[in-house]
Amino acid sequence: MLPFDTRRHRLAETMRAHGGGVAIAFTAPEVARNRDSEYPYRWDSYFYYLTGFPEPEAAVVLVADGASSESILFCREKNEEREIWDGFRFGPGAARERFGFDRSLPFSNLDDELPKLLADRPALWYALGSDEALDARVHRWLGAVRAQARAGVAAPAQAFDLRAILDEMRLVKDEHEIATMRRAAQISAAAHVRAMRATRPGCHEYEIEAELLHEFRRNGSQFPAYGSIVASGRNACVLHYRGNDARLADGELLLIDAGCELDGYASDITRTFPVSGRFSGPQRALYEIVLEAQRAAIDATRPGARFVEPHDAAVRVLAQGMIDCGLLAGSLDGVIESGAYKRFYMHRTGHWLGMDVHDCGDYREPGAPAPAAAASLGADATTAVPAAGTQAAPADSGKPWRVLAPGMVLTVEPGIYVRAADDVPAPYRDIGIRIEDDALVTASGCEIITADAPKRVDDIEALMRG
Ligand code: CA
Repeated sequence: MLPFDTRRHRLAETMRAHGGGVAIAFTAPEVARNRDSEYPYRWDSYFYYLTGFPEPEAAVVLVADGASSESILFCREKNEEREIWDGFRFGPGAARERFGFDRSLPFSNLDDELPKLLADRPALWYALGSDEALDARVHRWLGAVRAQARAGVAAPAQAFDLRAILDEMRLVKDEHEIATMRRAAQISAAAHVRAMRATRPGCHEYEIEAELLHEFRRNGSQFPAYGSIVASGRNACVLHYRGNDARLADGELLLIDAGCELDGYASDITRTFPVSGRFSGPQRALYEIVLEAQRAAIDATRPGARFVEPHDAAVRVLAQGMIDCGLLAGSLDGVIESGAYKRFYMHRTGHWLGMDVHDCGDYREPGAPAPAAAASLGADATTAVPAAGTQAAPADSGKPWRVLAPGMVLTVEPGIYVRAADDVPAPYRDIGIRIEDDALVTASGCEIITADAPKRVDDIEALMRG
C-alpha cells in the first residue's frame, strides 16, 4: 500500500471520530515569475502528503461517513496539444490507478461535483483562511447546497481546520518519510563536504554556493530546501544573509547554512569552518563553545523531553562560554535570567523539520481539535471556538511545551554571533558561528541523520588539508 493511501485512511478515521464529513485539500497554483515564465513548480505540502500527486490544478476530496470512506482526485484532463508544449499529464484515468484513489474526475468538474458531495454531510474539513480565492469558492459550494434547503438537503453545520489534524500527523514521520529524510540528509552532508574541499581564500561565496547546488542536483534533489546562506567573515553575523557575493579572505570563517529538498522533504545543515583550513585561536575558542552547546542540546533531545529542553541545555553552555571568554560579565544564572546572552545568541536552538523546512506542528501541547470559527462558514453554522492554530504558540501562552516522541524530526542549531563593538574583546569581533544538524527522535534518544558532515575541529582541518 502506498504511504499516501495509509495517510488518507488515518485522516478518515480521525474525521469519523469527530462525526465524519468531507475533507478538501487543494494543491498549490503555478506562479508567474515574469512573462511566460513560471517559478519552478512546488505542490502544496498538505495535498502532496495525502496524494503523492505532482501536477498543478488538482484537489483531493475525502468523504468519511459511517464505516466507509471514499477518496476522489480532481486533476487536469489529458491534452495532447498542451502535452506537446509542457509535458506529460496523467489525466483522471491513469492518476486514479497510479495513485490509488477510489475515483478521479476532471478538475474542471470541481464546481459541479462539490455541492453534491457536501450535501447532507455533517462537517467540512478544509484549510480555512489560507487562500481568499479558495475560501470564496468553498463558500459558493456551500451556498449551492443551502439553496436546496427546501428540497430537504442540509449543508455541513460545522467546519474544522484540516491543517490541525494533518499537522499532528505530519509531526511524527512514518517510515517512508524517515527513509526520504535520511537520504536528503546524506546528500546535504556530502554537499557540505564538497564545499569545504572547494573553499580557499580569493574565491567568492557564490562559487561555494555553486558547489552545494551541484552536489544537491547530481544526487537527484529537485531544489534547495531554502535559500542557501554562504556567509564569510562578518556576513555570518547576519542570520538570514542572502548576498552570497563576497570574496573569501584568508583568516575568516565561512558559515554555510544549506540543505537540499528530496522528493518533498527538507534537510537543513549549518557548518562553520576556516577559509584557510585552520582555525585561529579565538575562532577555535568560540567554535568549541558552540560545539559543546550542540552536544548538550543533542543529549537533551530524547523521547519524553520537552521541546524547549535542548534549547535550555544549549543556552547554559553558550552563556558559560560567553562569560569564560569575556564577552559577558556576571554569574551564569544572572546572565541567563537577564537574557544578556541574547546579544550573542538571539534565536532558538531548533525547529521541526519535514516537508517544509520550518515544518508544521505545534511547539506546545495541543488541545482537542475544535470546530473553526463559525463566521467563515456563514450564518447556518454553529458558533464554536477557533480551531487550534498551526503556528507556534507565543512563549507566554502558558501551554506546556510539546513532549518529544519517536518519529519527530527537529534541528539542533546553537550559535554565537559577535558583531563588532567597542565593548567586545577585539579577537572575537565579527565572528559568527552556527552548527546545525537534523535529529530524528528515536526510542532511546535521537539519531543525527546529518552526521556525515564533519564538525569536530580536527576532522574539519584534516578534510581541508586533504
Ligand atoms: Ca538552517
